[in-house]
Amino acid sequence: MWRLKIYRRDGVESETWDLIVVGGGPGGASAATVAATAGLNVLLLERGDLMRHKPCGGILPEVTEELIEEVFNSLIPSKVLSEPAELVLRYTPPSGVVNGGRVTNSRLFNVKRDEFDQWLRDRAQDAGVTLLHRARVIDVKAGDIFSVIYVENGTQKKVSARNLIAADGVHSLVRRKLIPDANTPKMLVGQRLIKVSNKMPADFHCVFARQFSPFYAYSVPKGSLLKIGSGMTEEESHDLMPSLDRFTEWLQQNGVADIGEVIKQEGWAIPFGEQNVTAKGALLVGDAAGLCNPLSGEGIRLAIESGQLAAEAIIESKDTSPVENYCQAITGMARMITALHKIVLATDDDAREKFVASELSR
Ligand SMILES: Cc1cc2nc3c(=O)[nH]c(=O)nc-3n(C[C@H](O)[C@H](O)[C@H](O)COP(=O)(O)OP(=O)(O)OC[C@H]3O[C@@H](n4cnc5c(N)ncnc54)[C@H](O)[C@@H]3O)c2cc1C
Repeated sequence: MWRLKIYRRDGVESETWDLIVVGGGPGGASAATVAATAGLNVLLLERGDLMRHKPCGGILPEVTEELIEEVFNSLIPSKVLSEPAELVLRYTPPSGVVNGGRVTNSRLFNVKRDEFDQWLRDRAQDAGVTLLHRARVIDVKAGDIFSVIYVENGTQKKVSARNLIAADGVHSLVRRKLIPDANTPKMLVGQRLIKVSNKMPADFHCVFARQFSPFYAYSVPKGSLLKIGSGMTEEESHDLMPSLDRFTEWLQQNGVADIGEVIKQEGWAIPFGEQNVTAKGALLVGDAAGLCNPLSGEGIRLAIESGQLAAEAIIESKDTSPVENYCQAITGMARMITALHKIVLATDDDAREKFVASELSR
């Protein structure tokens, strides 16, 4: 097992870790947990507080359950599940609800994202990870060892590590510091949380139609509330909130939901079309690496899996660089995302119509 060293240089105390993970979302919590379970000394730096908020639909495909059990050695606990806890995938094509329907045998988990992420970070801590909340990384340098500067309670601190994993999300500071000229296009996703007066079916309703979005619009029941969302390119971002107005009207007119007061409105981004999985010896995972499904907007499972693969690459590489091992391990996922991106760009309403028809006939 590698060991933590503490040394002083210029009067500044600095710690050297086997691995520093920047960002405590699903990708970071996964990487940190896998590495700590293998006996590495791991520091996980998260800028947010306990229960930090992440704009998200909170939908997980069924296969995520197995992955979570493998990485975090636990099933998803009911305390992080929303109501209804399980949903079925419902598609509506451009021609309307009459040609849509539920996808046979689909099973999705409906999680309370902030609680879910906190639980993942708690699992990381249980595995032996040193976890700091409210620790915002402001600079990183690559060399024989990585140095990381973060601010905690107004004080700047410096730590070092043999390995660095960037899991700091779509606007990754680590990526911006290590590859300043990286091309990182994004899709903007707007969300609203709305009061509804009718009982909602247990559907994750995915609507494909250009009138709402060049990508997708969705609705998810969350207890007595309905979460709706829509995605736009950066160029069309001015239409993000108007598209949510159009979608709200459509949900009401089609009898999907009896729409009431808007409780909350927010927006964030997902990576769209470029990947950077390594940077000067550091490994990038999840959104920081561009590993998010551009067709469905699904990224939690991919973040957990890429975090796992990055940690395993470090464990297997021992004292050598893990870059080659990680690039090899991540190839399948990266290729799948590239292929889906091409499909999304080539898709018009005719293709959306055919896609839904084929999904429903499966
Ligand atoms: C509106 C919306 C809805 C979505 N819905 C779904 C969905 O239903 N299902 C799904 O699977 N995916 C969904 N996604 C995508 C999903 O949220 C992401 O793909 C996923 O969160 C990526 O996980 P991550 O760990 O890579 O990054 P994140 O979850 O973004 O975590 C990054 C972490 O790094 C921390 N951080 C950032 N900068 C620093 C810093 N400088 N120092 C320290 N910490 C830092 C952040 O606070 C954060 O906790 C959605 C995305 C959006 C925008």
